[in-house]
Amino acid sequence: MTAQLISGKAVAKTKKEEMKAVVENLKEQGIHPGLAVILVGENPASMSYVKGKIKDCGEVGIHSELIRFPDTISESELLQAIRKLNEANAIHGILVQLPLPDHISDRKVIETIAPEKDVDGFHPISLGKMMTNQETFVPCTPAGIVEMLKAIGCPVAGKHVVIVGRSNIVGKPAGQLFLNLDATVTTCHSKTKNLSQYTKQADILVVAVGRAGLIGAEDVKEGAVVIDVGMNRNDQGKLVGDVKFDEVKEKAGFITPVPGGVGPMTRTMLLENTIKAAKWLKQNER
Ligand code: NDP
Repeated sequence: MTAQLISGKAVAKTKKEEMKAVVENLKEQGIHPGLAVILVGENPASMSYVKGKIKDCGEVGIHSELIRFPDTISESELLQAIRKLNEANAIHGILVQLPLPDHISDRKVIETIAPEKDVDGFHPISLGKMMTNQETFVPCTPAGIVEMLKAIGCPVAGKHVVIVGRSNIVGKPAGQLFLNLDATVTTCHSKTKNLSQYTKQADILVVAVGRAGLIGAEDVKEGAVVIDVGMNRNDQGKLVGDVKFDEVKEKAGFITPVPGGVGPMTRTMLLENTIKAAKWLKQNER
């Protein structure tokens, strides 16, 4: 069997068209969604991600502000800048691009962002709300994965979802999100013994590790849906995922490519969260 490709790029394009109309409508009601992106330092990958996020905002009509600091900025100065944005009326969402320099605590930065502007969904309040199945900001990568499954008409309830990776930004929130959607969830990590024994049971396999070629055809069930979150550079400098795409596509039912799979959806869900933040602010004003 040759798997059908899940094009995150195509799903993202459709979603952005829909969002453009929503933003237009919000503007007619006097609400102009705004996102502030903070970039510390000159990390080339971070600079490229941030550039992409600002461009996306422009495409759907979201106001965006890029705020740059040198990597010598002190932690307290950065926290102060976040507090100022927490109060800024034109800004509904705040994103601080990670990683940060070693002298700045990611945790303190995330916890300083006002929960109602936490469009990355990393604040403990957002994560706690997700855990108790309340409406909140869902971290963008897990949210994007669920949107792709919706787009291919893949039901989640009752499915066995196996997630490889348990980071706070991808693996753990993905597991919670799937649990909230009534899936049976197994989470694997670096201490999991005999990984393949679990991945082979997955109806939906989500791989978020950061190790090229970790998952091969022998690790996947015939007809499974395979979502490859990984982003790695191979020896030729080419962007590849964690899944051996060429062999797994012969066995899976659906598969995401890298690039063009999860990445574009992650970016798109940030826009969705920003729109959500603007709508919530308006509702709370009433
Ligand atoms: P982290 O490094 O924070 O987490 C990696 C996880 O993989 C950890 O939980 C680790 O386990 C687990 N792991 C490591 N080795 C193994 C192994 N041999 N078998 C099973 N599990 C293992 O990474 P992130 O979650 O931040 O990112 C994962 C990948 O996804 C990266 O390639 C990243 O670039 C990519 N990414 C892509 C995004 C996109 O939009 N496409 C967005 C975010 C990330 P343990 O906890 O035990 O250490």
